[in-house]
Amino acid sequence: MTDPANTSVINFGAGPAKIPQEVLKNVQRELLSYANTKISILELSHRSNDFKKIIDDAQASVRDLLNIPDNYKVLFMQGGGTGLFAAVPLNLMYKSGTADYLVTGSWSAKAAKEAGKYGKVNLVLPKQSKYTEIPDPSTWNLDPNAAYVYYCDNETVHGVEFNYIPETNGVPLVADMSSNILSRPFDISKFAVIFAGAQKNIGPAGVTLVIVRDDVLGNAMSVCPTIFDFSVMANDNSVHNTPPTFQIYVMGRVFDWIKRNGGVEGMEKLANLKSKVIYDIIEESKGFYTCPVRRDVRSRMNIPFRIGNNDEELEQEFLSGAVARGMLQLKGHRSVGGIRASLYNAVTEEDTQTLASYMRWFYQVHRE
Ligand SMILES: *Cc1c(COP(=O)(O)O)cnc(C)c1O
Repeated sequence: MTDPANTSVINFGAGPAKIPQEVLKNVQRELLSYANTKISILELSHRSNDFKKIIDDAQASVRDLLNIPDNYKVLFMQGGGTGLFAAVPLNLMYKSGTADYLVTGSWSAKAAKEAGKYGKVNLVLPKQSKYTEIPDPSTWNLDPNAAYVYYCDNETVHGVEFNYIPETNGVPLVADMSSNILSRPFDISKFAVIFAGAQKNIGPAGVTLVIVRDDVLGNAMSVCPTIFDFSVMANDNSVHNTPPTFQIYVMGRVFDWIKRNGGVEGMEKLANLKSKVIYDIIEESKGFYTCPVRRDVRSRMNIPFRIGNNDEELEQEFLSGAVARGMLQLKGHRSVGGIRASLYNAVTEEDTQTLASYMRWFYQVHRE
């Protein structure tokens, strides 16, 4: 019998995205009977000791990977990244009813809009027509009385990534790291809340990793849904109601895979190397491939680019050729067009080189 796992294609999707082959095979092997339980992980009680061990191990692994100190809680929540767009103001707007939002792309724009339902949103940056840069901090209009400052560390659609942590002068900082968490080390003490939907860089859709500093707990608005209340989730160790058990289990396996592959430092090295390969080809193509994003904020995870001066026919040809060669989900987001290559942790250097070779070949064939 042939191996049903299709190793001959490469998934460059932006999310749900590639999960390490090794993790998928492991999950497949264990699916019918988890550990010594004789039942599937999908059937296992969320109150069982076996599941408690899964959740505790996953927490311990991510604490270890990101050096998370004891004054932070690690939560596994539901509602996706979008759920947190609401949960953040519902938990954090207690101080002044106002929050500062750095809008650098479509995800932070959505978060700001959602927060506006619960309080006053101060848009810190001048409005941008296209999200291709991050205005210099000297131009930011920060409110010293804001309850928190919010930003998106990596804009998945526009390919804009921060290469520094914003300075807030003591105002609690909140980051959406959905599409770049565990791709580089950072100083966690700078943050009050970090969240990340799992389906980009750390696992399957359906669970959101949330890291919360103790001092912001206990202040949720009275209208905050119980399952969005960080304090309730912290007290109940993320098992207030039935959690996404399967997703937490797979995510824990991805954490262990990262540990075995050089940890966050290893992922950073790889991310720098992979993204450089693709950006170099874009630069060397003399305008055949173009990336609209300013060089200093180009994402290491999601690379949007256009071909032949935004030639949609040529882009379609590129995408069809990619599919024929086993490279999937390279189509750009509908709001941006063109191509988007997502190079998350699970995308290997070899995968990236396959795309690079194709891009070079396509350039040779089509350049004027
Ligand atoms: C995908 C994404 C989201 C939304 O996640 P959902 O789980 O679909 O709600 C939020 N922020 C960023 C940066 C994302 O990439």
